[in-house]
Amino acid sequence: MFMFLQMEGKTGPTRRPMRVLVTGGSGLVGKAIEFVVREEKYESKGETWIFLSSKDADLTNAVETREIFKKHQPTHVIHLAAMVGGLFMHLRKNLDFWRKNLAINDNVLQTAHESDVVKVVSCLSTCIFPDVTPYPIDETMIHNGPPHDSNSGYAYAKRMVDVHNRACFQQHGRRYTAVIPTNIFGPYDNFNIEDAHVLPALIHKTYKAKRDGTSLEVWGSGKGLRQFIFSVDLARLIIWVLREYDEIEPIILSVGEEDEMTIKDVVDEIVKAFNFTGPVNYDTNKSDGQLKKTASNAKLRSYLPNFTFTPFHTAVKETCDWFAANYDTARK
Ligand code: NAP
Ligand code: GDP
Repeated sequence: MFMFLQMEGKTGPTRRPMRVLVTGGSGLVGKAIEFVVREEKYESKGETWIFLSSKDADLTNAVETREIFKKHQPTHVIHLAAMVGGLFMHLRKNLDFWRKNLAINDNVLQTAHESDVVKVVSCLSTCIFPDVTPYPIDETMIHNGPPHDSNSGYAYAKRMVDVHNRACFQQHGRRYTAVIPTNIFGPYDNFNIEDAHVLPALIHKTYKAKRDGTSLEVWGSGKGLRQFIFSVDLARLIIWVLREYDEIEPIILSVGEEDEMTIKDVVDEIVKAFNFTGPVNYDTNKSDGQLKKTASNAKLRSYLPNFTFTPFHTAVKETCDWFAANYDTARK
């Protein structure tokens, strides 16, 4: 692993200690990266890791973005900050998702270039792929057709990160890239029932149904298909991308196609984790969103054939236990 960055300056090669700025460092993925950085003791090996929240700088604001980069002088950036939410939040706030994410991404990527950051790893999502597409989806298909209507604002804003990275390589030779995770979950997620993604929303709903002796209300038919990645697994993979992956083209970070499951499978796993015995209702008047977005992890496997993902049931149990233990302070 490298702690120093070899630089070709005007005065010959120089060495700069590695300083990693993590935007969105207070969120689900940011907290998981912080956990791995501590566990692996990267800072005792000479690296500096800085985890930002929106309180440190509003990255929709170009001046605040420049100031925070000037303050921390990063050599590397993991760019996670975004307006993030589940299907039902996208249906209500499509325009906000487009404008905020477009502004954040342009500010971060341009400021990184102006600050001579050597590598940026940004975070896209498998929901940005075309709605009508052959399966499995792979990294070459991002721009092949319109995304699903439900989250088009977010999807187009994220697609523009790929456009930006390619142009920034073409014009400035910058090796900025992006990862494409599937649905993520874990401790420190947003568990707000109206706004959250499916897994944290259902964890919160099941917790309350058990506590209050009520039924569990699942939105939609439960037939939608999704691939889920545990935030700590994703964190390890993003750090690997930062250190080792040298392509501009994004890389899908996902469990295999064989691990795709229905929303009903997810409900069953959460019900089991909480030992919930009350009734479970499916509200078919609510949207199912995109039926599926099956992604291939063949490219990831070509680099890391032996990476082991945490078993789904273990990760769900850990997340349910974390939520129950941190109910008072969890984002909800
Ligand atoms: P999250 O838990 O909602 O965290 C979002 C982070 O972004 C927080 O640290 C938040 O800061 C920060 N942020 C939001 N608006 C900001 C602003 N205007 N200025 C500065 N910081 C701002 O999100 P996440 O689930 O960790 O997502 C991380 C990345 O993964 C995002 O790029 C997301 O699009 C992508 N992704 C997520 C999923 C998923 O299932 N969650 C799936 C695929 C891709 P505060 O804590 O201060 O609000
Ligand atoms: P997506 O994967 O980007 O579509 O977003 P979500 O993580 O929000 O997952 C949406 C899928 O979960 C849809 O098929 C919904 O019908 C289903 N779902 C079931 N119950 C819930 C819930 O309580 N909240 C959310 N967000 N989705 C739910």
